[in-house]
Amino acid sequence: MPWLEIFTPSPNHSAAQTHERRGVCFHHTVKSFGGTLALMQTPESRVSYHTVIAADGTRARLVADEHIAWHAGVSVFQGRKDPNVFLLGVAFAGDTYAAPLTEAQVASALDWLAPRWSANGWSSACMTDHRQVAPGRKDDLSPAEWTRLQARITQRFS
Ligand SMILES: [Zn+2]
Repeated sequence: MPWLEIFTPSPNHSAAQTHERRGVCFHHTVKSFGGTLALMQTPESRVSYHTVIAADGTRARLVADEHIAWHAGVSVFQGRKDPNVFLLGVAFAGDTYAAPLTEAQVASALDWLAPRWSANGWSSACMTDHRQVAPGRKDDLSPAEWTRLQARITQRFS
């Protein structure tokens, strides 16, 4: 099923260097889809994701893949700091502790991943979430929802 994708550019990004696209860091936003997009349009927030996925599977693209979105903050992935330059940021609207990801969100995320997976030579080891790259500082996704998403990714792409 094709998912609606809208383009709502965020000023909160850097184009000074090309994004390395080594993998993906998943997030949840706590806020609603609309509330998240509004925050991303606000320069003062200094926060953005490449893509945000609504409960109905609609995706908003905020920052082009080749540019640096500001989603991970002080984080480390596989021993390397500043994942913003090498992990794309994909966020699910909502709070995965309050409610699980919708089936549409999971399916839309897999659909978003599909063309990028082969193009960038990704594996399951290239996938992570904010909780794992910033332990103790960030808690998204909930462990249960991360496990569920990871299983679906592995099922689809391996
Ligand atoms: Zn996050």
